[in-house]
Amino acid sequence: MKVHNLGFPRIGSKRELKFALESFWQGNSSQNALEKTASNIRRDNWQLQVNAGIDLAPVGDFAFYDHVLNTTLLLGLVPKRFRDIENDIDREFAIARGKQTACSSCAASDMTKWFDTNYHYLVPELDAETEVKVNTQRLISQINEAKSQAVNTKPVIIGPLTYLYLSDYKNGNKLDLLDALIPAYQQIIADIAKTGCEWLQIDEPIFALELEKQWLDAFKTCYQAFETDDIRILLATYFGDISQHIECIKRLPVAGLHIDTVTEPFDWQSIVTQLPGHWIISLGVIDGRNIWKTDLVSVYQQVNPVYRILNERLWLGPSCSLLHSPIDLMLETELDKELNSWLAFAKQKCQELDLLKDAIISQNTETITRYSAPVLTRLTSPRISNVKVRQRIDSLKPTDFKRSQTFSDRKIVQQQALNLPLFPTTTIGSFPQTGDIRAIRAQHKQGRLSSLDYQSEIRKEIAHVITEQENIGLDVLVHGEPERTDMVEYFGEQLSGCAITQFAWVQSYGSRCVKPPIIYGDVSREKPITVEWLKYAQSLTRKPVKGMLTGPITILSWSFVRNDIERSVVSNQIALAIKDEVADLEKAGIGVIQIDEPAIKEAMPLKKSRQAKYSEWATKAFRLCSSSVKGSTQIHSHMCYSEFNDILPVIIALDADVLTIETSRSNMAILSVFDEQPYPNDLGPGVYDIHSPNVPEQRWIKQLLDKAIETIPIDNIWVNPDCGLKTRQWSETKLALSNMVSSAKELRARY
Ligand code: GLN
Ligand code: ZN
Repeated sequence: MKVHNLGFPRIGSKRELKFALESFWQGNSSQNALEKTASNIRRDNWQLQVNAGIDLAPVGDFAFYDHVLNTTLLLGLVPKRFRDIENDIDREFAIARGKQTACSSCAASDMTKWFDTNYHYLVPELDAETEVKVNTQRLISQINEAKSQAVNTKPVIIGPLTYLYLSDYKNGNKLDLLDALIPAYQQIIADIAKTGCEWLQIDEPIFALELEKQWLDAFKTCYQAFETDDIRILLATYFGDISQHIECIKRLPVAGLHIDTVTEPFDWQSIVTQLPGHWIISLGVIDGRNIWKTDLVSVYQQVNPVYRILNERLWLGPSCSLLHSPIDLMLETELDKELNSWLAFAKQKCQELDLLKDAIISQNTETITRYSAPVLTRLTSPRISNVKVRQRIDSLKPTDFKRSQTFSDRKIVQQQALNLPLFPTTTIGSFPQTGDIRAIRAQHKQGRLSSLDYQSEIRKEIAHVITEQENIGLDVLVHGEPERTDMVEYFGEQLSGCAITQFAWVQSYGSRCVKPPIIYGDVSREKPITVEWLKYAQSLTRKPVKGMLTGPITILSWSFVRNDIERSVVSNQIALAIKDEVADLEKAGIGVIQIDEPAIKEAMPLKKSRQAKYSEWATKAFRLCSSSVKGSTQIHSHMCYSEFNDILPVIIALDADVLTIETSRSNMAILSVFDEQPYPNDLGPGVYDIHSPNVPEQRWIKQLLDKAIETIPIDNIWVNPDCGLKTRQWSETKLALSNMVSSAKELRARY
């Protein structure tokens, strides 16, 4: 029996790849230096996996930027606008990040979420003229690199159907492109086979989705064409139950199948018995996406009967690539011992597989029983439960989820309270986070700046942000969020039931990594979090200052969440904490409160059949934290992503008084979702892209607003940027916001 891995984090245990990439992009280091860092990371990763007892370590899981982009390069499907760029690596980064030259500007490819994870991939751009030009050089050289280090490897590639499914193709049916992709993949497979590897893992995670018949037929065509004696293909599925497609899967001429048994509970045991008798069956039994130590005894009990039937035909692995997991728990020196004993990161997950293998082969559970003891302690630890929170959840009534007045009544009292002009202007919350601000926070955290000094520095920044906004002439001001490193981590630091790590970074995209809080117990708020900052900000101005909070679904989605209770319950607990904060803000005289929910769409389950239930509890959580205010208190929400189609009913049901969204990058095109079902409350379509340093001209903003007016009634429209300004410079920000305010004034003059 083998234990194998589907993929390992590529950022390096101290984010070496991030720093090497950024230094290379800034022109401070050479391509050689970058390649060297990359090969060191690969070597360390393989070594770590081999030492942990992994029999087959993946190769091909490394990427400078993204593994979907790697597949695009493997297939030579470079979008036209980048083809003139000669150097391979410059071309790769141009696709990922765009390229500005004196005479032209090439926009980057679109980025979107990889299934329901927080990892973003670069969307392949395919068109009718798409010409495939296979280039396996990089992959083959990495296979040889592993071999030269005596690592037993299994190359990993994304399968053709998942690749197509995730791509953007505007000229008709994506499956028409298969004629071109099949021979390309045949060549890739042949090239890999020549290296002498016994196994090739082909990832087809779309099997976890609902698929139309034409896609299932296409699987048959493809994989029949790939049949070869030269290498054995392991078809890897993950991110959910695949039982609905088993009739298709079992007829594919592959040599093995990987099944994720963790993400969705389903009867995989009965599936295993239906699969061809010569197949290797790989069971993904360790959660590749969360950080909890596995109860190996329970896994043993499930897997052992299968082992008795399959023997060496059984492999064990993580549920999916460990890309989504932080690297090494050993680096965490500040977590308390008990919490630490509940966790396992990527390295520890590999070790868990080895322990499990030993137990199964020796039929002796002594070691795994000892190892897994803390899992059981966690489930009964007083630390994870808070009776008061449980009681509050149990005693919630329907009225807790509903504002007492309708939007049209609220609109009247809010107007009396706020007295805002037509086309009110505001921002999404954060203002430029300069090096100075970051340094102040870091010094305070390290104990080098006293709390008093820290407070006075942050207050200085708040005062600065308020003055600038008054000078610019904005209508609803913000305090600028200078005290926050990150909108989720900040609340994670303050809420009980949550812990923050030092090094548990996970790649979000390219060089960007996030460090999700760990929600290990019942969540509660012990004391006000943002109120003092907001009170101070409001004391400086007669204009309304908007309080800024992160919503329950976003905190939940961007954290590592406990797996012993339903996510819907955790979200209600977070909602209660936020609700208390909302109440305190209101009491402190803050009349406008924004609760950000940028993650509400990505948290939606992949399978359509599971979406209705999610929609219900997500809506309830938001309404729980936002509904108990007076009618005159104005609730805003903000979300940024460019597609609302499936989630529109949820967005409407949140019943926020004002919703600000990202629209400028699509040129307001995405407002068309409201053609059929208008947004019933106020809407602030973003009028400029905050990702770019370019200052939007007034003319351009005005043109976008003119478009927005076609969809949104003038009494309901707000004027704001696409998202927060924290990554921008002050100089750009002042100019951009001034142009935005002037555009709003120009419109007001017209009505
Ligand atoms: N209030 C946050 C900010 O302005 C919102 C960030 C987000 O939507 N991602 O930074
Ligand atoms: Zn945003």
